[in-house]
Amino acid sequence: MSKVPEMFGTMVFGDSAMRERLPKEVYKALRHTIQNGTALNPQIADVVAGAMKDWAVEKGATHFTHWFQPMTGITAEKHDAFLSPLHDGKVIMEFSGKELIKGEPDASSFPSGGLRATFEARGYTTWDPTSYAFIKDDTLCIPTAFCSYNGEILDKKTPLLRSMEALSKQAVRVLHLFGKDVTRVTPTVGPEQEYFLIDKEGYKQRPDLILTGRTLFGAMPPKGQEMNDHYFGSIRPRVKAFMAELDEEMWKLGIYSKTEHNEVAPGQHEMAPIFTTANIATDHNQITMELMRRVAERHGLVCLLHEKPFEGVNGSGKHNNWSMSTDRGENLLDPGKTPMDNAQFMLFLTAVIAAVDDYQDLLRISVASAGNDHRLGANEAPPAIVSMYVGDELEAIIDAITNGTDYIQGMQRSMDIGVRALPPIPQDNSDRNRTSPFAFTGNKFEFRMPGSSFNIACINIMINSAVADILMRFADELEQAIDFESSLNQLIRRELNTHKRILFNGNGYSEAWPQEAEKRGLHNLPSTPVALLHYTDPENVQMFARQGVFSLTEIKSRQDITMEEYAKTIHIEALTSLDMLDKMIIPACISYSNELASGVAVKAQIGIEASTEKEMVKVLTERIGLLVQARDELAEAIQNEPDTLNERGLYEHEIVIPAMEKARTLADDLEHRVAKNVWPVPTYADLLFYV
Ligand code: ADP
Ligand code: MG
Repeated sequence: MSKVPEMFGTMVFGDSAMRERLPKEVYKALRHTIQNGTALNPQIADVVAGAMKDWAVEKGATHFTHWFQPMTGITAEKHDAFLSPLHDGKVIMEFSGKELIKGEPDASSFPSGGLRATFEARGYTTWDPTSYAFIKDDTLCIPTAFCSYNGEILDKKTPLLRSMEALSKQAVRVLHLFGKDVTRVTPTVGPEQEYFLIDKEGYKQRPDLILTGRTLFGAMPPKGQEMNDHYFGSIRPRVKAFMAELDEEMWKLGIYSKTEHNEVAPGQHEMAPIFTTANIATDHNQITMELMRRVAERHGLVCLLHEKPFEGVNGSGKHNNWSMSTDRGENLLDPGKTPMDNAQFMLFLTAVIAAVDDYQDLLRISVASAGNDHRLGANEAPPAIVSMYVGDELEAIIDAITNGTDYIQGMQRSMDIGVRALPPIPQDNSDRNRTSPFAFTGNKFEFRMPGSSFNIACINIMINSAVADILMRFADELEQAIDFESSLNQLIRRELNTHKRILFNGNGYSEAWPQEAEKRGLHNLPSTPVALLHYTDPENVQMFARQGVFSLTEIKSRQDITMEEYAKTIHIEALTSLDMLDKMIIPACISYSNELASGVAVKAQIGIEASTEKEMVKVLTERIGLLVQARDELAEAIQNEPDTLNERGLYEHEIVIPAMEKARTLADDLEHRVAKNVWPVPTYADLLFYV
C-alpha cells in the first residue's frame, strides 16, 4: 500500500507532468485554458503535443488515439502509431499539435439519429484539455469531443461541457449578488458504481448472459439475498484479488478509487471514487467500467454491468452524487456558518428543488433504458417517480419558510433567511431514506436512479442545464431588486411554495405513493418508451435552447437513438429467449419427460405400476405444451413489430416483454421439475454462489 502515492496518476499527463515538461509560458497558457475553458492558442499546441508524446513514449506508448464517447457504447477509439517516415527508410516517433487538437475518425457507423447522412461519413474530434490525457494499453488516449461537420454534436461530452458552462455562467451571476469574488463554478460529481462478478465458466454456458448481459431464464435458488449476509460481508479471496488489481489500475490512471465493498445481493459489489469535476468524473467512470470488465477477465471472472442480471435479486445502479463548487473551493450546497452564507445556501438549494420539480421528466429520461426499467419501480431502487428528500431538519426549515411561521427548533426566527443562522444541518451518512430518488446528504445531492451501465454524462447534462436555467431566472429577478435581502426572502418563499410538492420524505416503495404523487401532479413515467416521448416537450426544448446545450435537432436525434436502442435491446432479448427455448430448454424438458416415460413403460413390463412417475410425466407434458404455446406467441409477437420508431418502442414494452415474461415463468417452473443433470444451463445458485 505504501506504493500508492508513487503509483497514483503515473499514467496520466496531469498537472505535475505538464509543469515538469512544458516551458513555463506554455504551461501557464495551458493552465489558463483548463481552468477557464478558453480556447487554446494553436501555437502552443505543437509544444504540448511534443511534450506529451515524449512523456508517453518514455512510458512505452507506441500509439495515440482520440478517445471519445459516442451516443451508444462505452467509448470509442481509433489507434494511430506515432510513426513518421524519414527519407532513408527509417522512421521517427512524431506527434503534431494538429494531431493533438483535431482528429477525423471514419465514423459512419456511429449512431447519429439522422444528424449525419451516411454518405457524409466524416465527423471530427477535438481535444478537451479540461480532462487529462492518459496511457492505456501502450496507447496515449486523448479525451475528445465528437462533432459532425455541420457542428452538430455526435457525442456525450460536448453537451456535458456546454451544460457545465451554462451552470457556471448563471451561478457566478448569483454569487456576485452575494458579493462573492468568483469567476467560475464547476459541478462536482462522485459516482458510486455497483456491479456483479460471476465465474467465467458459468457465464460461457449462458447465451443470454453473453448476448444480452442478463439472464432471460432462471428459477430462484433456495437461498437468495434474504439473509442479508452479503452486504458489507467479508470479501471472497478471488474477488479481493480482483479489487486490489482494479484499484491499482485505477490509481495509475489518476482515478480516486476510495471504497470497495460487497453489496446486498450475492455476487454484487460496489466501488466509490472521491468526487471530482463532472466531466473528469464522467471520463473516469467510463474508464472504470472498462477496467472492471478487463481486470475481471484476468481473474477468471466476468463483470456484469447490466442493471438487472438476475430476476428476484437486487439489480445494480449508480449513485450520482452532485454538487457545485466555486473556483475558491466553496461547496455551494454546504450550509455554511454565517447567516449570509445560509441565505446563499438556501437560494442554491431552492434552485435545485425548483429544477428537479420543473424538469422531472428530463431526469427520468436521463436514466431510461431497457435494463433500468427492471429496477425503477421494483422494490429495490427508487420508483420511476422523481421526488426529493432533504432530511427532517431542512424539511422543517422549508415548512417554516413557506408557512411563514416564526419559530422552529434550534432557530429563533426562521422566516427571514438572510438574517438568522440556520441550525447545524447534519451530514446524512446513514442513508435514512434509501427509497428517495434524489436525496440531500448534508452537502450534496445523491441521484439514485441511474443504472449501473449508464454513461453519467447525460444525467449530469440534465441536472446542470436545469439548475442553470432556474439560476438564470433567479439572477434576472434579483439583479433588478432594490432591496436585495427582502427580494431574496420573497423569492425563496415563493419558489419553495411552488415547488415543495416534489419533496417527499415517506416510503417511495409504498403502494400509496404513486396515488399521492398523482394528486401532487408529479410525473409517473413507468417505462422508457413512455418517458422518452417527453424529451421533445416544448418546455424542455426551450430550456435547452436558452442554456445553449441542445438544439431541437440534437434533442430529436437523442430521442430517436435511445428509442431505437431500447427497441433493439428488447428485440434481441426476444430472439435470444426463443433460441434458448428451442435449442436448449424445450429439448431438455422433453428428453427428461421421455426418460421418465420409458421408466414407466419398463416398470409396467415387469408388473410394477409407477403411478407417481406417470403423474409426473403427465404434468411435464402438459407444462411443456404450455411452454411451446407461449414460445409460439412470443415468436408471433416479434413478427408483428411496427415500423415507426416510437410505436415500436411502445409495442416492445406492451406486447413483447409480457410475451417473454410469460414464457419465462413457465420455463422457470419447469426448471424446478426437471433433474439438475439435464438442465442445459448453469442455475442461479451455480452463478451466484461460486467460490
Ligand atoms: P454517503 O455515505 O452519503 O454515500 P460518502 O461520503 O461515502 O457519502 O460519499 C459518497 C460519494 O459522494 C463519494 O463518491 C464522494 O466522493 C461523493 N461526494 C462527496 N462530496 C461531494 C460533493 N461535494 N460533490 C459531489 N460528490 C461528492
Ligand atoms: Mg451513497
